[in-house]
Amino acid sequence: MGLDVRFARRLLRWYAQNRRDLPWRRTRDPYRVWVSEVMLQQTRVDAVVPYYRAFLRAFPDVRALAAAQEEDVLRVWAGLGYYARARHLLRAAREVVQRGSFPTTAAGWRKLPGVGAYTAAAVASIAFGEDVVAVDGNVARVGLRLLGLRRSPRDTTARRAVQAALAAVLPPGRAGELNQALMDLGATVCLPTRPRCTACPVQTFCRARGTGRVHQIPARPPRYPKPRRRFVAAVVRDRWGRVLLVRQPSQGLWGGLWTLPYVEAPSWERAGRLLRRQLGVPLEADGLRLAFRHTFTHFHAHFQVVGARTPEPPRVGRFVRPDAETVPLPAPLRRLLVALRQQRE
Ligand code: SF4
Repeated sequence: MGLDVRFARRLLRWYAQNRRDLPWRRTRDPYRVWVSEVMLQQTRVDAVVPYYRAFLRAFPDVRALAAAQEEDVLRVWAGLGYYARARHLLRAAREVVQRGSFPTTAAGWRKLPGVGAYTAAAVASIAFGEDVVAVDGNVARVGLRLLGLRRSPRDTTARRAVQAALAAVLPPGRAGELNQALMDLGATVCLPTRPRCTACPVQTFCRARGTGRVHQIPARPPRYPKPRRRFVAAVVRDRWGRVLLVRQPSQGLWGGLWTLPYVEAPSWERAGRLLRRQLGVPLEADGLRLAFRHTFTHFHAHFQVVGARTPEPPRVGRFVRPDAETVPLPAPLRRLLVALRQQRE
């Protein structure tokens, strides 16, 4: 059985009774819907909820966000990862304030920094009722199973097929609900590895189930192992035990955040010259040696952390108490500083 208007009706009925109660679902305010959708890109719902609340406390509307300093936005975002999202949100807020209003269509939203096809369609449909379908990786998986297409959710042609099939059965004026219903179906029933087909409200419309191929769909995209890269970071303390942090340039790893001074190098011996150039003073190792790993989008990073002394104050950066909450730090470095402080106590 293919998709038709009965499919949409049944899914919407299920959604009315089973929708997840999420803080951004209690509003159609475009600012709040937009912030939630940006946070939900690449981050799980339960991780997003506390950040969403803290962000709205700090920046309750688009004007407050547009007037904020990048460092303040990054501080509230710190720990959520993918910091380009926060920088884009800030730039986009400034554009919105400058033009005087939010865009009301997906095409308009797409012109803002950091807003892709999915986010644009989600915000336009939920906040403005535009009849557009929002297909992210989750919805693509559900759609491919419904259509019985053994393709990867990342495959653009396959996504278009899902989008077209869903758009064809969209009840006018209810795209926001349908999009959220599909998101919830993907998050709670049509799960990636163990879909709960017997509990699925649209099982009779599902080709994958009808043909016994649920576990073959979607096709797994080819996996390319992430490369490994090695970095060396220095812990330089002043006489009060505060730790030297440097601000990273906006573009690049941990862009705009404060970190220990670090360079890409296989060993302390190789890192010394590069760190000297970065800080403007020579460094001498003073015994502390630690290591941690962190996975970025495109590679695994191994950080060797070395305690170091400098003969005079470094020319860049600032000394900060290891437990200071006032600077935006990436989560692994905050954990490291907390561990260092505990070691000294
Ligand atoms: S029947 Fe199973 S595979 Fe098909 S949409 Fe429902 S949960 Fe997903």
